[in-house]
Amino acid sequence: MKYLIKTYGCQMNVHESEKLAGILEDMKYTPCEKEEEADIILFNTCAIRESAEQKIYAHIGELKKLKKENKNLIIAICGCMSQQKNYPENILKKFPFVDIIFGTHNIAEFKTFIEKRKATKKKVVDITEVENIIKRDTMPKKRTSGVNAWVNIMYGCNNFCTYCIVPYVRGREISRPLEDVVSEVEELLKQGYKQITLLGQNVNSYGNDLNDENCTFAKLLQKLDSLNYDFWLTFMTSHPKDISTEVIDTIASSKHIFHYLHLPVQSGSTQILKLMNRRYTREAYLEKIKYAKSKIPDIEFSSDIIVGFPTETEEDFLDTVSLVQEVGYAQLFTFIYSKRRGTVAEKLDGQVDLATKKERLRRLIDSQSKKATEIAEKYIGKTVDVLVTDIHPKKKGFLLGSTFTNKNINFAGDSSLIGQFVKVKVLSSKLTVLTGEIVKE
Ligand code: SF4
Repeated sequence: MKYLIKTYGCQMNVHESEKLAGILEDMKYTPCEKEEEADIILFNTCAIRESAEQKIYAHIGELKKLKKENKNLIIAICGCMSQQKNYPENILKKFPFVDIIFGTHNIAEFKTFIEKRKATKKKVVDITEVENIIKRDTMPKKRTSGVNAWVNIMYGCNNFCTYCIVPYVRGREISRPLEDVVSEVEELLKQGYKQITLLGQNVNSYGNDLNDENCTFAKLLQKLDSLNYDFWLTFMTSHPKDISTEVIDTIASSKHIFHYLHLPVQSGSTQILKLMNRRYTREAYLEKIKYAKSKIPDIEFSSDIIVGFPTETEEDFLDTVSLVQEVGYAQLFTFIYSKRRGTVAEKLDGQVDLATKKERLRRLIDSQSKKATEIAEKYIGKTVDVLVTDIHPKKKGFLLGSTFTNKNINFAGDSSLIGQFVKVKVLSSKLTVLTGEIVKE
């Protein structure tokens, strides 16, 4: 029996698909590439933007023919999209050939859902919000991310940014016990993983629900940094209002934690940040950046920016452009604001027209490209530590790697080096990507 998982959205979903694949492989299913070969096709969906949903709907619609030809094919849908109120009913109305729908809270029950469907031939729909965090983390996992391993440290979000649907579909913050995270990481390091990426919607509020002063994000980082293995450690995502000086100090004094911080600012205008309910000002954000730069001189930053949030004026937009220049991001993930059903921002007056949004996005990308190119050029001539992650998909005889500041780099080398740390001299850069040559020590 064969399975195919189609994953949409963020790293959280990527890792959850690894857990769902783990369940299927435990049930003796093997992976396949083509839909026609599959006995189960699972869509792990994203609800962050309506355009993402439309794309997923189109993909599900394409399976109608396949289901007609193969009555035993099981089509299942899970993830943020199916967790939304009334969505299972709507999905089944639109696509009556779908067999199983479940949400973000009950992925650990996937095996039961499949067995139920097979035994009863009835549709299985379950988006109940159950508290089964321990079950989720003891699920088998089929890891697919090479030398990197994802590790959940918490689930959910308490922040309710006005444009975001995540707190409605992922629930409130729940942290995993610190010892559980540490033992999972240690086990992965024993297995030979060289990079660990901690996952949470807002990792900086890790432990707030545990009521234990020894279970904070900084303490977790310190504990993991003390593990005596050769590895790099990184995390996502950080909320700027919650990142503490203790976390920054921990990164500064650590041996394993990336000198890189993804700190999504979303806008450079305090007025817009207020409407977004981000609960920090432009000044407070810049203060944290300044502190991090003072403690970790080679640190690099990346960020998410939403352009054209309701009421955004040209002046607000220019505040964003100037903040981007002041911080000097190595990488920027830019988005045009689009209404998301069920969010507070959907109802705000002062929606910005699409032409203006597109024009602002283009100007922002132009100014960022120049900055990112300058940042990358500073590496030329330097020798940097690199974790070799993969073979280059296009350049024969070349490898891919990552620097300690999370820059992508490629260089000639043999695939036996994958998973090793090497020294690479940077010879050139193109936008944010570096090219170099291995230096023998
Ligand atoms: S912090 Fe804001 S943007 Fe991030 S998941 Fe929570 S509500 Fe969404």
